[in-house]
Amino acid sequence: MAERIIEELRLPMRIADREVQARVSIGIALSPTVGENPADLLQAADVAMYAAKGRGKGRYEVYHPSLQEAITERLERSAELQRAVEEREFVVYYQPIVSLDTDQTVGVEALVRWRHPERGLLLPSEFISLAEETGLIIPLGRWVLQQACRQARQWQLDHPISGRLRVSVNISARHFQHDGLVEDVSSALKAGGLDPENLILEITESVLVQDADGVVARMRALKQLGVAFAIDDFGTGYSSLSYLKRFPIDILKVDKSFVDGVGDSRENGALAEAVVQLGHTLHLQTVAEGIEEPRQVEGLRAFGCQFGQGFYYAKALPPDEIDDLLSRRSSDQLSLAAAAISEEVKG
Ligand code: C2E
Ligand code: MG
Ligand code: MG
Repeated sequence: MAERIIEELRLPMRIADREVQARVSIGIALSPTVGENPADLLQAADVAMYAAKGRGKGRYEVYHPSLQEAITERLERSAELQRAVEEREFVVYYQPIVSLDTDQTVGVEALVRWRHPERGLLLPSEFISLAEETGLIIPLGRWVLQQACRQARQWQLDHPISGRLRVSVNISARHFQHDGLVEDVSSALKAGGLDPENLILEITESVLVQDADGVVARMRALKQLGVAFAIDDFGTGYSSLSYLKRFPIDILKVDKSFVDGVGDSRENGALAEAVVQLGHTLHLQTVAEGIEEPRQVEGLRAFGCQFGQGFYYAKALPPDEIDDLLSRRSSDQLSLAAAAISEEVKG
């Protein structure tokens, strides 16, 4: 029965002219195992439901005493994350975003890591979903925004050649819905001294499929500040193409899963090509994610994709390594300029 309920609710429904999809987590407790007392049964069902949620949404679990341990662990991890947010145990890494034509770094994407006291450096996949569930993503996201704006401005000052370096920050759907977001963005810009035109907010399609009027209003308020919007992992979510026109979007990020096949065969690159084409038609810039091979660069250039990021160029790096990279670039440019001058003198 639980499977049937989950399947039925998975089907899209129309509510007020919009298509919505619900996911449900179900917890089941059986009286012989748990006892006859209704309160105990409900509590056990609740434990099972949290376990179902924890294993990814759209599942069911039947109560078993071992689930209690899983719940306890989740509670402990939430408390640990809360402490980490308070103690600022995080660090922001930056991945260069490169112009595919010139190979120059034109921007960076801020990617958060948790410097865990025992477990070492943790990737977002280990803690972002818990941060979203617990709401801790809001103070964490605010902190990342502040760091990124301040750091980007510092790089612009230290490396005049990167005077227009732009920084992209991932904004979780939960933070996007939060009323304080506009204030968080504007105070991060002010405190960092960064020109709003140099900040890009990355949102996913899951934001666009929420209440459309509310989303448009919030996006407008943020656009008023002067920031730009990118749709992250474009093509992997549930938004329909007609949505794109309704929102003030500036950039499409072609998801890695589409970029993987570029340069392989016509068919394998077809979806990336389609997204880049869509970008051209709607006058949006396109950034290819997860470039690992030269064949992909060739292919993406041929499609007319302007920007890219990926291990082929650089991984996400700590700030001092980005500094080195930008210094190298400045000195390359200087030596090019010097060579040009000496040519002129000779001439
Ligand atoms: P994303 O925004 O799509 O970021 C791109 C992810 O792909 C990053 O993983 C990056 O390290 C990885 N990547 C880049 N190039 C390559 C490549 O060539 N090959 C492969 N295999 N991977 C590549 P990361 O840093 O683990 O971040 C994962 C996700 O976590 C991000 O996906 C983003 O959705 C989320 N995230 C990261 N930082 C933040 C943050 O500050 N706030 C929020 N809300 N989400 C964040
Ligand atoms: Mg991103
Ligand atoms: Mg992405």
